[in-house]
Amino acid sequence: MLKRTLGLSLPVVLAVAFFLGLPNPDVAAKNRFISIGTGGPTGVYFVVGNAVCRMVHREAAEGRKKGRKHGMRCSAPSTGGSNYNIGQIKEGELQFGVAQSDWQHHAYNGTSKWKGKQYSKLRAVFSVHPEPFQLIARKGSGIKSWSDLKGKVVNIGNPGSGQRGTMEVLMKKKGTKVSDFKQATELTSSEQVGALCDGKVDAIAYTVGVPNGAIGQAIDGCGAHFVNLNSSVEKGMVKANPYYAFANIPAGVFYKGQKSDATTFGVMATFVSSSDVDSKTVYELVRAVFENLDSFKKLHPAFKKLDPKQMIKNGLSAPLHDGAVKYYKEKGWM
Ligand code: GLU
Repeated sequence: MLKRTLGLSLPVVLAVAFFLGLPNPDVAAKNRFISIGTGGPTGVYFVVGNAVCRMVHREAAEGRKKGRKHGMRCSAPSTGGSNYNIGQIKEGELQFGVAQSDWQHHAYNGTSKWKGKQYSKLRAVFSVHPEPFQLIARKGSGIKSWSDLKGKVVNIGNPGSGQRGTMEVLMKKKGTKVSDFKQATELTSSEQVGALCDGKVDAIAYTVGVPNGAIGQAIDGCGAHFVNLNSSVEKGMVKANPYYAFANIPAGVFYKGQKSDATTFGVMATFVSSSDVDSKTVYELVRAVFENLDSFKKLHPAFKKLDPKQMIKNGLSAPLHDGAVKYYKEKGWM
């Protein structure tokens, strides 16, 4: 029992703590505890968020030795994905999040899904890895191109995920309605591969870094295949929007069972925050990531090509957070 082991009653402990000086609540509220919104537990965002926390904690430990304390504690729970993360940053529930470059753009500008809900306090921090939008069909589904999705069971993704939003945009551009499918399911990224391999759904969509374990499970584990997305519709989308780019996933390089090259359009994974988060917090997070970038890059193969010069501009459409700018200027990158 607390009372017996401490030999003090709880009110006494609290009173003593109070007089010894607990952190001033204002200071404590200034983001000493930061939460980073990620994505499903089998995605790459989850690795991004936890890699950032690892670097923040490493710098905290180094700082304690060298007298350069930032005292930040970081957590990166799994979430519903891009739009969920931006929404929670807006609510002040999360301080940071990972989000697709298309949704960063729309949230900041109040367009597409964010029409009428513009979030002008959204701030870019840096970009991470490229994320192709991947349409994957089950072996034996007979799906070779987009038009074959008609009359099939298609997982359009959970609301809040980046792929769900991008799928809706693509469907609109293609003139495809949910009613054109036999059924549209809303499984999360970590549920959908199991459903595909069990034959419960015929096709899934996932905007995710390459390679990804869940995609590997679909392709190598149950013989699923990529469906190319490179018609005039996607060409028009890439041409008209800076947050999209074409991506190629070469056969047999990342997934042994992938028989032919896949071409599709994609986005960048970006790290975002809010102008309501103080500059010192953002500065310390950014510093922790870039001072440890070599270790960071080793935490996932999708991070292999990360380069600071690209990371501070690629795929970013919201203004950079002041705290990030401070560090990038110190480094002479801006
Ligand atoms: N791009 C996905 C999303 O925005 C998440 C991908 C991942 O978890 O790596 O929801």
